[in-house]
Amino acid sequence: MPTLNEIRSTFLNFFEENDHQIVESSPLVPRNDPTLMFTNAGMVQFKNLFTGVEHRDYKRAATSQKCVRAGGKHNDLDNVGYTARHHTFFEMLGNFSFGDYFKEQAIPFAWDLLTKEFGLNKDKLLVTIYHTDDEAAEIWKKYAGLSDDRIIRIATDDNFWSMGATGPCGPCTEIFYDHGPEIWGGPPGSPEEDGDRFIEIWNLVFMQYEQFEDGTRQDLPNQSIDTGMGLERIGALLQGKHDNYDTDLMRALIEASAHITSQDPDGPGNVHHRVIADHLRSTSFLIADGVMPSNEGRGYVLRRIMRRAMRHAHLLGAKDPVMHQLVPNLVAQMGQAFPELGRAQPLIEETLKLEETKFKQTLDRGLRLLDDELDKLQDGAALPGEAAFKLYDTYGFPLDLTQDALREKGREVDVSGFESAMAEQKAKARAAWSGSGEAADAAIWFDIAEDEAKGTTDFLGYDTEVAEG
Ligand code: ATP
Ligand code: MG
Ligand code: MG
Ligand code: MG
Repeated sequence: MPTLNEIRSTFLNFFEENDHQIVESSPLVPRNDPTLMFTNAGMVQFKNLFTGVEHRDYKRAATSQKCVRAGGKHNDLDNVGYTARHHTFFEMLGNFSFGDYFKEQAIPFAWDLLTKEFGLNKDKLLVTIYHTDDEAAEIWKKYAGLSDDRIIRIATDDNFWSMGATGPCGPCTEIFYDHGPEIWGGPPGSPEEDGDRFIEIWNLVFMQYEQFEDGTRQDLPNQSIDTGMGLERIGALLQGKHDNYDTDLMRALIEASAHITSQDPDGPGNVHHRVIADHLRSTSFLIADGVMPSNEGRGYVLRRIMRRAMRHAHLLGAKDPVMHQLVPNLVAQMGQAFPELGRAQPLIEETLKLEETKFKQTLDRGLRLLDDELDKLQDGAALPGEAAFKLYDTYGFPLDLTQDALREKGREVDVSGFESAMAEQKAKARAAWSGSGEAADAAIWFDIAEDEAKGTTDFLGYDTEVAEG
Protein backbone atom coordinates (compact mmCIF):
# COMPACT_ATOMS: atom_id res chain seq x y z
CA MET A 1 0.00 0.00 0.00
CA PRO A 2 1.65 3.26 -1.08
CA THR A 3 1.98 6.04 1.49
CA LEU A 4 0.92 9.60 0.72
CA ASN A 5 4.60 10.51 0.44
CA GLU A 6 5.06 7.77 -2.17
CA ILE A 7 1.94 8.77 -4.09
CA ARG A 8 3.15 12.36 -4.29
CA SER A 9 6.42 11.10 -5.79
CA THR A 10 4.68 8.79 -8.25
CA PHE A 11 2.57 11.70 -9.47
CA LEU A 12 5.54 14.02 -9.93
CA ASN A 13 7.66 11.29 -11.57
CA PHE A 14 4.90 10.47 -14.02
CA PHE A 15 4.78 14.04 -15.25
CA GLU A 16 8.53 14.47 -15.15
CA GLU A 17 8.80 11.50 -17.48
CA ASN A 18 6.34 13.30 -19.70
CA ASP A 19 8.58 16.36 -19.98
CA HIS A 20 7.11 18.45 -17.19
CA GLN A 21 9.29 20.66 -15.02
CA ILE A 22 8.83 19.79 -11.34
CA VAL A 23 8.25 23.07 -9.53
CA GLU A 24 8.21 23.49 -5.76
CA SER A 25 5.03 24.39 -3.95
CA SER A 26 4.70 28.13 -3.48
CA PRO A 27 4.03 29.51 0.02
CA LEU A 28 0.53 29.65 1.48
CA VAL A 29 0.71 33.43 1.52
CA PRO A 30 0.61 34.26 -2.18
CA ARG A 31 3.49 36.38 -3.36
CA ASN A 32 2.42 39.67 -4.89
CA ASP A 33 -1.25 38.92 -4.65
CA PRO A 34 -2.96 40.89 -1.91
CA THR A 35 -6.36 39.98 -3.35
CA LEU A 36 -6.07 36.38 -2.26
CA MET A 37 -6.05 35.34 1.38
CA PHE A 38 -4.26 32.00 1.04
CA THR A 39 -3.00 29.93 -1.84
CA ASN A 40 -5.96 27.67 -2.55
CA ALA A 41 -5.00 25.95 -5.81
CA GLY A 42 -1.99 24.86 -7.79
CA MET A 43 -2.45 27.49 -10.48
CA VAL A 44 -2.02 30.44 -8.17
CA GLN A 45 1.77 30.63 -8.57
CA PHE A 46 1.38 30.39 -12.36
CA LYS A 47 -1.23 33.10 -12.92
CA ASN A 48 1.12 35.32 -14.87
CA LEU A 49 2.14 32.47 -17.14
CA PHE A 50 -1.44 31.79 -18.08
CA THR A 51 -2.13 35.42 -18.87
CA GLY A 52 1.10 35.66 -20.85
CA VAL A 53 2.53 38.45 -18.69
CA GLU A 54 5.45 36.24 -17.71
CA HIS A 55 7.46 33.61 -19.58
CA ARG A 56 9.71 30.88 -18.27
CA ASP A 57 11.94 28.39 -19.97
CA TYR A 58 9.43 25.59 -19.56
CA LYS A 59 5.94 25.13 -21.00
CA ARG A 60 4.91 22.19 -18.84
CA ALA A 61 5.04 21.99 -15.08
CA ALA A 62 3.90 19.73 -12.24
CA THR A 63 3.58 20.53 -8.54
CA SER A 64 2.28 19.38 -5.23
CA GLN A 65 0.88 22.64 -3.93
CA LYS A 66 0.11 23.43 -0.31
CA CYS A 67 -3.43 24.78 -0.16
CA VAL A 68 -5.57 26.29 2.57
CA ARG A 69 -9.29 26.71 2.09
CA ALA A 70 -10.62 28.43 5.16
CA GLY A 71 -12.37 31.50 3.85
CA GLY A 72 -14.34 33.18 1.09
CA LYS A 73 -15.45 31.36 -2.02
CA HIS A 74 -13.52 28.27 -1.03
CA ASN A 75 -14.26 27.80 2.65
CA ASP A 76 -14.05 24.20 3.76
CA LEU A 77 -13.65 24.97 7.47
CA ASP A 78 -17.21 23.96 8.22
CA ASN A 79 -16.84 20.74 6.26
CA VAL A 80 -14.02 19.43 8.45
CA GLY A 81 -15.29 16.78 10.82
CA TYR A 82 -18.42 16.36 8.71
CA THR A 83 -17.31 15.04 5.31
CA ALA A 84 -14.88 12.29 4.36
CA ARG A 85 -13.14 14.44 1.80
CA HIS A 86 -12.47 17.98 3.02
CA HIS A 87 -9.54 19.50 4.86
CA THR A 88 -8.64 23.10 5.58
CA PHE A 89 -5.06 22.23 4.57
CA PHE A 90 -4.43 19.79 1.73
CA GLU A 91 -2.01 19.16 -1.07
CA MET A 92 -3.15 19.72 -4.61
CA LEU A 93 -1.28 17.68 -7.20
CA GLY A 94 -1.31 19.42 -10.55
CA ASN A 95 0.04 19.34 -14.06
CA PHE A 96 0.09 22.49 -16.15
CA SER A 97 0.54 23.40 -19.78
CA PHE A 98 1.31 27.00 -20.67
CA GLY A 99 0.25 27.21 -24.30
CA ASP A 100 1.64 23.75 -24.96
CA TYR A 101 -0.65 20.68 -24.95
CA PHE A 102 -4.41 21.02 -24.58
CA LYS A 103 -7.42 18.73 -24.03
CA GLU A 104 -6.31 16.06 -26.46
CA GLN A 105 -3.35 15.31 -24.21
CA ALA A 106 -4.52 16.44 -20.78
CA ILE A 107 -7.29 13.85 -20.64
CA PRO A 108 -5.08 10.94 -21.72
CA PHE A 109 -2.41 11.93 -19.16
CA ALA A 110 -4.98 11.88 -16.37
CA TRP A 111 -6.60 8.68 -17.54
CA ASP A 112 -3.28 6.85 -17.94
CA LEU A 113 -2.04 7.90 -14.53
CA LEU A 114 -5.25 6.84 -12.81
CA THR A 115 -5.91 3.59 -14.60
CA LYS A 116 -2.44 2.35 -15.64
CA GLU A 117 0.04 3.77 -13.16
CA PHE A 118 -2.30 3.79 -10.16
CA GLY A 119 -4.39 0.86 -11.41
CA LEU A 120 -7.81 2.22 -10.44
CA ASN A 121 -10.83 0.23 -11.54
CA LYS A 122 -12.16 1.97 -14.69
CA ASP A 123 -15.71 0.90 -13.98
CA LYS A 124 -15.82 3.04 -10.87
CA LEU A 125 -14.78 6.22 -12.64
CA LEU A 126 -17.12 8.76 -14.19
CA VAL A 127 -16.65 12.31 -15.38
CA THR A 128 -18.46 15.60 -15.73
CA ILE A 129 -17.95 18.02 -18.61
CA TYR A 130 -19.31 21.48 -19.39
CA HIS A 131 -22.56 20.90 -21.25
CA THR A 132 -21.36 22.40 -24.53
CA ASP A 133 -17.89 20.84 -24.52
CA ASP A 134 -18.32 18.19 -27.20
CA GLU A 135 -14.57 18.00 -27.74
CA ALA A 136 -14.00 16.78 -24.20
CA ALA A 137 -16.89 14.31 -24.53
CA GLU A 138 -15.36 12.92 -27.69
CA ILE A 139 -11.92 12.41 -26.08
CA TRP A 140 -13.42 10.72 -23.03
CA LYS A 141 -15.36 8.38 -25.32
CA LYS A 142 -12.53 7.58 -27.70
CA TYR A 143 -9.56 7.48 -25.38
CA ALA A 144 -11.07 6.22 -22.16
CA GLY A 145 -13.94 4.29 -23.70
CA LEU A 146 -16.46 5.87 -21.33
CA SER A 147 -20.09 5.40 -22.29
CA ASP A 148 -22.41 8.41 -22.59
CA ASP A 149 -24.06 7.76 -19.25
CA ARG A 150 -20.70 8.12 -17.49
CA ILE A 151 -20.02 11.50 -19.12
CA ILE A 152 -22.31 13.85 -17.26
CA ARG A 153 -23.00 17.22 -18.85
CA ILE A 154 -23.21 20.07 -16.34
CA ALA A 155 -24.45 23.54 -17.29
CA THR A 156 -23.39 25.42 -14.17
CA ASP A 157 -20.22 27.29 -13.20
CA ASP A 158 -19.04 24.13 -11.45
CA ASN A 159 -17.78 23.12 -14.87
CA PHE A 160 -16.81 26.50 -16.21
CA TRP A 161 -13.75 28.08 -14.68
CA SER A 162 -12.65 31.70 -14.82
CA MET A 163 -9.74 33.54 -13.29
CA GLY A 164 -11.84 36.62 -12.60
CA ALA A 165 -14.48 38.83 -14.19
CA THR A 166 -12.14 39.16 -17.17
CA GLY A 167 -9.19 37.13 -18.38
CA PRO A 168 -8.61 33.45 -19.13
CA CYS A 169 -11.54 31.09 -18.69
CA GLY A 170 -12.89 27.86 -20.05
CA PRO A 171 -14.71 24.61 -19.47
CA CYS A 172 -13.49 21.96 -17.09
CA THR A 173 -13.94 18.27 -16.64
CA GLU A 174 -14.00 16.59 -13.24
CA ILE A 175 -13.19 12.96 -12.57
CA PHE A 176 -15.22 11.19 -9.88
CA TYR A 177 -14.87 7.85 -8.16
CA ASP A 178 -17.92 5.88 -7.05
CA HIS A 179 -17.31 4.50 -3.56
CA GLY A 180 -20.42 2.33 -3.80
CA PRO A 181 -24.06 2.29 -2.72
CA GLU A 182 -23.30 1.65 0.97
CA ILE A 183 -22.33 5.32 1.18
CA TRP A 184 -24.87 8.10 0.98
CA GLY A 185 -24.64 10.39 -2.02
CA GLY A 186 -25.59 10.79 -5.65
CA PRO A 187 -23.76 11.42 -8.93
CA PRO A 188 -22.70 14.97 -9.80
CA GLY A 189 -25.64 17.11 -10.83
CA SER A 190 -28.09 15.10 -8.73
CA PRO A 191 -29.73 16.41 -5.54
CA GLU A 192 -27.54 14.13 -3.38
CA GLU A 193 -24.26 15.17 -5.00
CA ASP A 194 -22.90 16.64 -1.75
CA GLY A 195 -22.78 13.19 -0.18
CA ASP A 196 -19.57 11.20 -0.01
CA ARG A 197 -20.46 8.36 -2.37
CA PHE A 198 -19.22 9.99 -5.58
CA ILE A 199 -16.01 11.76 -4.69
CA GLU A 200 -14.35 14.22 -7.02
CA ILE A 201 -10.70 13.37 -7.33
CA TRP A 202 -9.37 15.44 -10.19
CA ASN A 203 -10.36 18.64 -11.91
CA LEU A 204 -8.96 19.46 -15.35
CA VAL A 205 -9.40 23.05 -16.50
CA PHE A 206 -9.19 23.92 -20.18
CA MET A 207 -8.21 27.58 -20.47
CA GLN A 208 -9.70 28.16 -23.83
CA TYR A 209 -11.03 31.71 -24.01
CA GLU A 210 -10.32 35.20 -22.91
CA GLN A 211 -13.26 37.06 -21.40
CA PHE A 212 -13.50 40.81 -22.04
CA GLU A 213 -15.19 43.54 -20.08
CA ASP A 214 -17.94 44.02 -22.67
CA GLY A 215 -19.01 40.40 -22.14
CA THR A 216 -17.51 39.03 -25.34
CA ARG A 217 -15.15 36.11 -25.48
CA GLN A 218 -12.37 35.17 -27.86
CA ASP A 219 -10.22 32.10 -28.30
CA LEU A 220 -6.94 32.47 -26.41
CA PRO A 221 -3.90 32.46 -28.68
CA ASN A 222 -2.20 30.08 -26.26
CA GLN A 223 -4.65 27.61 -24.84
CA SER A 224 -3.53 26.21 -21.52
CA ILE A 225 -4.15 23.45 -19.01
CA ASP A 226 -4.51 23.68 -15.25
CA THR A 227 -5.35 20.60 -13.21
CA GLY A 228 -5.78 19.78 -9.54
CA MET A 229 -6.11 16.49 -7.70
CA GLY A 230 -6.27 16.20 -3.91
CA LEU A 231 -3.38 14.05 -2.68
CA GLU A 232 -5.39 12.91 0.33
CA ARG A 233 -8.34 11.90 -1.88
CA ILE A 234 -6.33 9.85 -4.37
CA GLY A 235 -4.40 8.53 -1.37
CA ALA A 236 -7.57 7.24 0.26
CA LEU A 237 -8.47 5.39 -2.94
CA LEU A 238 -5.05 3.84 -3.37
CA GLN A 239 -5.02 2.74 0.26
CA GLY A 240 -8.39 1.06 -0.16
CA LYS A 241 -10.18 3.59 2.07
CA HIS A 242 -13.19 5.72 1.58
CA ASP A 243 -12.26 8.47 3.98
CA ASN A 244 -9.30 10.88 3.64
CA TYR A 245 -8.86 10.72 7.40
CA ASP A 246 -8.09 6.99 7.18
CA THR A 247 -4.99 7.54 5.03
CA ASP A 248 -1.65 6.74 6.66
CA LEU A 249 -0.69 10.35 7.25
CA MET A 250 -3.97 11.59 8.70
CA ARG A 251 -4.34 8.41 10.72
CA ALA A 252 -0.93 8.92 12.33
CA LEU A 253 -2.01 12.38 13.45
CA ILE A 254 -5.34 11.10 14.73
CA GLU A 255 -3.55 8.43 16.73
CA ALA A 256 -1.15 10.98 18.16
CA SER A 257 -4.12 13.09 19.25
CA ALA A 258 -5.73 9.99 20.77
CA HIS A 259 -2.54 9.13 22.59
CA ILE A 260 -1.97 12.57 24.08
CA THR A 261 -5.57 12.96 25.22
CA SER A 262 -5.85 9.29 26.31
CA GLN A 263 -9.00 8.92 24.23
CA ASP A 264 -9.88 6.11 21.85
CA PRO A 265 -9.13 7.24 18.26
CA ASP A 266 -12.29 5.53 17.04
CA GLY A 267 -14.59 6.19 19.98
CA PRO A 268 -17.05 9.04 20.32
CA GLY A 269 -14.09 11.43 20.29
CA ASN A 270 -13.24 10.50 16.71
CA VAL A 271 -14.67 13.67 15.23
CA HIS A 272 -12.59 15.79 17.63
CA HIS A 273 -9.43 13.91 16.67
CA ARG A 274 -10.20 14.52 13.00
CA VAL A 275 -10.65 18.24 13.51
CA ILE A 276 -7.47 18.42 15.59
CA ALA A 277 -5.45 16.51 12.97
CA ASP A 278 -6.71 18.78 10.22
CA HIS A 279 -6.28 22.03 12.10
CA LEU A 280 -2.82 20.99 13.26
CA ARG A 281 -1.76 20.83 9.64
CA SER A 282 -3.26 24.14 8.56
CA THR A 283 -2.03 26.07 11.58
CA SER A 284 1.49 24.60 11.45
CA PHE A 285 1.91 25.21 7.73
CA LEU A 286 0.55 28.74 8.01
CA ILE A 287 2.99 29.59 10.79
CA ALA A 288 5.83 28.01 8.79
CA ASP A 289 4.91 30.36 5.95
CA GLY A 290 5.06 33.41 8.16
CA VAL A 291 1.48 33.92 9.35
CA MET A 292 1.16 34.70 13.06
CA PRO A 293 -2.07 34.75 15.08
CA SER A 294 -3.51 38.24 15.32
CA ASN A 295 -6.79 40.08 15.29
CA GLU A 296 -6.86 40.93 11.64
CA GLY A 297 -6.72 39.51 8.18
CA ARG A 298 -4.78 36.29 7.67
CA GLY A 299 -3.65 36.19 11.27
CA TYR A 300 -7.23 36.22 12.46
CA VAL A 301 -8.13 33.30 10.24
CA LEU A 302 -5.18 31.43 11.74
CA ARG A 303 -6.32 32.33 15.24
CA ARG A 304 -9.85 31.16 14.50
CA ILE A 305 -8.60 27.79 13.26
CA MET A 306 -6.37 27.41 16.33
CA ARG A 307 -9.17 28.23 18.73
CA ARG A 308 -11.56 25.83 17.06
CA ALA A 309 -8.98 23.06 17.45
CA MET A 310 -8.49 23.99 21.10
CA ARG A 311 -12.18 23.68 21.81
CA HIS A 312 -12.13 20.19 20.34
CA ALA A 313 -9.14 19.28 22.54
CA HIS A 314 -11.09 20.62 25.51
CA LEU A 315 -14.03 18.38 24.59
CA LEU A 316 -11.65 15.42 24.73
CA GLY A 317 -11.00 16.35 28.34
CA ALA A 318 -7.50 17.70 27.80
CA LYS A 319 -6.33 19.65 30.82
CA ASP A 320 -3.06 20.91 29.36
CA PRO A 321 -2.37 22.48 25.98
CA VAL A 322 -2.41 19.74 23.32
CA MET A 323 -1.69 21.15 19.91
CA HIS A 324 2.00 21.93 20.33
CA GLN A 325 2.66 18.39 21.53
CA LEU A 326 1.49 17.04 18.19
CA VAL A 327 3.91 19.07 16.09
CA PRO A 328 6.83 16.59 16.22
CA ASN A 329 4.53 13.97 14.79
CA LEU A 330 3.51 16.22 11.94
CA VAL A 331 7.13 17.07 11.23
CA ALA A 332 7.95 13.37 11.17
CA GLN A 333 5.22 12.80 8.60
CA MET A 334 5.71 15.79 6.35
CA GLY A 335 9.04 17.39 7.20
CA GLN A 336 10.91 15.69 4.41
CA ALA A 337 8.58 16.86 1.66
CA PHE A 338 8.31 20.33 3.23
CA PRO A 339 11.59 21.27 4.95
CA GLU A 340 10.16 24.65 6.00
CA LEU A 341 8.10 22.74 8.53
CA GLY A 342 11.14 21.41 10.37
CA ARG A 343 12.87 24.77 10.21
CA ALA A 344 9.89 26.46 11.81
CA GLN A 345 9.20 23.71 14.33
CA PRO A 346 10.29 25.66 17.43
CA LEU A 347 8.26 28.69 16.36
CA ILE A 348 5.19 26.57 15.60
CA GLU A 349 5.38 24.82 18.96
CA GLU A 350 5.85 28.03 20.91
CA THR A 351 3.10 29.85 19.09
CA LEU A 352 0.60 27.04 19.56
CA LYS A 353 1.50 26.63 23.21
CA LEU A 354 1.19 30.31 23.96
CA GLU A 355 -2.15 30.67 22.17
CA GLU A 356 -3.58 27.62 23.85
CA THR A 357 -2.37 28.64 27.28
CA LYS A 358 -3.92 32.08 26.87
CA PHE A 359 -7.19 30.87 25.41
CA LYS A 360 -7.60 28.18 28.08
CA GLN A 361 -8.13 30.90 30.65
CA THR A 362 -11.39 31.96 29.04
CA LEU A 363 -12.39 28.85 27.09
CA ASP A 364 -13.71 26.87 30.06
CA ARG A 365 -15.67 29.76 31.44
CA GLY A 366 -17.01 30.72 28.03
CA LEU A 367 -18.23 27.20 27.36
CA ARG A 368 -19.97 27.15 30.72
CA LEU A 369 -21.65 30.45 29.92
CA LEU A 370 -22.72 28.99 26.59
CA ASP A 371 -24.28 25.98 28.33
CA ASP A 372 -26.14 28.22 30.75
CA GLU A 373 -27.48 30.31 27.90
CA LEU A 374 -28.63 27.20 26.07
CA ASP A 375 -30.42 25.91 29.17
CA LYS A 376 -32.45 29.09 29.23
CA LEU A 377 -33.59 28.69 25.63
CA GLN A 378 -36.62 26.92 24.31
CA ASP A 379 -36.12 23.85 22.18
CA GLY A 380 -34.54 24.70 18.88
CA ALA A 381 -34.33 28.44 19.49
CA ALA A 382 -31.27 30.26 18.19
CA LEU A 383 -28.66 31.59 20.60
CA PRO A 384 -29.37 35.33 21.03
CA GLY A 385 -26.92 37.66 19.34
CA GLU A 386 -26.02 39.37 22.61
CA ALA A 387 -24.87 36.07 24.11
CA ALA A 388 -22.71 35.29 21.10
CA PHE A 389 -21.34 38.81 21.29
CA LYS A 390 -20.51 38.48 24.95
CA LEU A 391 -18.65 35.25 24.19
CA TYR A 392 -16.77 37.07 21.47
CA ASP A 393 -16.04 40.22 23.38
CA THR A 394 -15.30 38.86 26.85
CA TYR A 395 -14.16 35.30 26.24
CA GLY A 396 -12.44 35.57 22.88
CA PHE A 397 -14.81 33.21 21.06
CA PRO A 398 -14.77 33.98 17.35
CA LEU A 399 -18.33 33.80 15.99
CA ASP A 400 -17.54 30.69 13.96
CA LEU A 401 -16.29 28.89 17.07
CA THR A 402 -19.63 29.50 18.77
CA GLN A 403 -21.40 28.35 15.63
CA ASP A 404 -19.25 25.22 15.52
CA ALA A 405 -20.11 24.48 19.15
CA LEU A 406 -23.83 24.91 18.50
CA ARG A 407 -23.91 22.87 15.32
CA GLU A 408 -23.26 19.67 17.30
CA LYS A 409 -26.39 20.47 19.25
CA GLY A 410 -28.43 21.30 16.17
CA ARG A 411 -28.58 24.96 17.15
CA GLU A 412 -27.70 28.23 15.46
CA VAL A 413 -26.64 31.71 16.40
CA ASP A 414 -28.82 34.73 15.69
CA VAL A 415 -26.16 36.27 13.47
CA SER A 416 -27.96 39.52 12.77
CA GLY A 417 -28.42 39.95 16.53
CA PHE A 418 -24.69 39.40 16.91
CA GLU A 419 -24.00 42.01 14.27
CA SER A 420 -26.27 44.58 15.88
CA ALA A 421 -24.63 43.99 19.26
CA MET A 422 -21.32 44.60 17.57
CA ALA A 423 -22.61 47.75 15.85
CA GLU A 424 -23.99 49.04 19.12
CA GLN A 425 -20.69 48.61 20.86
CA LYS A 426 -18.96 50.36 18.02
CA ALA A 427 -21.35 53.28 18.21
CA LYS A 428 -20.80 53.58 21.95
CA ALA A 429 -17.06 53.49 21.53
CA ARG A 430 -17.26 56.08 18.77
CA ALA A 431 -19.31 58.38 20.98
CA ALA A 432 -16.72 58.01 23.71
CA TRP A 433 -14.06 59.09 21.26
CA SER A 434 -15.88 62.15 19.96
CA GLY A 435 -14.23 65.44 20.70
CA SER A 436 -10.84 63.89 21.06
CA GLY A 437 -9.84 65.28 17.71
CA GLU A 438 -8.84 61.85 16.50
CA ALA A 439 -12.17 60.90 15.06
CA ALA A 440 -10.86 60.11 11.61
CA ASP A 441 -8.26 57.67 12.89
CA ALA A 442 -10.73 56.13 15.24
CA ALA A 443 -13.21 55.51 12.46
CA ILE A 444 -10.61 53.62 10.50
CA TRP A 445 -9.65 51.59 13.52
CA PHE A 446 -13.25 50.64 14.19
CA ASP A 447 -13.83 49.56 10.62
CA ILE A 448 -10.89 47.21 10.86
CA ALA A 449 -12.15 45.87 14.17
CA GLU A 450 -15.55 45.28 12.65
CA ASP A 451 -14.20 43.22 9.80
CA GLU A 452 -12.21 41.09 12.18
CA ALA A 453 -15.15 40.61 14.39
CA LYS A 454 -17.31 39.22 11.66
CA GLY A 455 -14.67 36.62 11.41
CA THR A 456 -16.13 34.84 8.46
CA THR A 457 -15.71 37.90 6.33
CA ASP A 458 -14.53 40.70 4.45
CA PHE A 459 -10.84 40.41 3.92
CA LEU A 460 -10.06 42.23 0.74
CA GLY A 461 -10.47 39.86 -2.12
CA TYR A 462 -12.32 37.11 -0.36
CA ASP A 463 -14.78 37.15 -3.19
CA THR A 464 -12.22 37.21 -5.91
CA GLU A 465 -12.69 34.29 -8.19
CA VAL A 466 -9.87 31.91 -7.75
CA ALA A 467 -8.74 28.79 -9.44
CA GLU A 468 -10.83 25.69 -9.27
CA GLY A 469 -8.17 23.08 -9.57
P1 ATP B 1 -15.42 19.52 -3.84
O1 ATP B 1 -16.51 19.74 -4.87
O2 ATP B 1 -15.29 18.09 -3.41
O3 ATP B 1 -15.51 20.48 -2.70
P2 ATP B 1 -13.81 21.27 -5.45
O4 ATP B 1 -14.52 21.20 -6.77
O5 ATP B 1 -14.13 22.42 -4.58
O6 ATP B 1 -14.04 19.88 -4.62
P3 ATP B 1 -11.39 21.99 -6.84
O7 ATP B 1 -11.45 23.42 -6.56
O8 ATP B 1 -11.79 21.50 -8.17
O9 ATP B 1 -12.25 21.21 -5.68
O10 ATP B 1 -9.92 21.46 -6.46
C1 ATP B 1 -9.24 20.45 -7.18
C2 ATP B 1 -9.11 19.17 -6.39
O11 ATP B 1 -8.56 19.42 -5.09
C3 ATP B 1 -10.42 18.47 -6.12
O12 ATP B 1 -10.80 17.68 -7.21
C4 ATP B 1 -10.09 17.64 -4.88
O13 ATP B 1 -9.45 16.43 -5.25
C5 ATP B 1 -9.10 18.51 -4.14
N1 ATP B 1 -9.76 19.28 -3.05
C6 ATP B 1 -10.50 20.40 -3.18
N2 ATP B 1 -10.89 20.88 -1.98
C7 ATP B 1 -10.35 20.04 -1.05
C8 ATP B 1 -10.37 20.01 0.37
N3 ATP B 1 -11.00 20.94 1.08
N4 ATP B 1 -9.71 19.01 1.00
C9 ATP B 1 -9.06 18.05 0.28
N5 ATP B 1 -9.00 18.03 -1.06
C10 ATP B 1 -9.63 19.02 -1.73
MG1 MG C 1 -15.12 22.55 -2.79
MG1 MG D 1 -16.40 20.15 -7.04
MG1 MG E 1 -13.65 20.82 -8.74
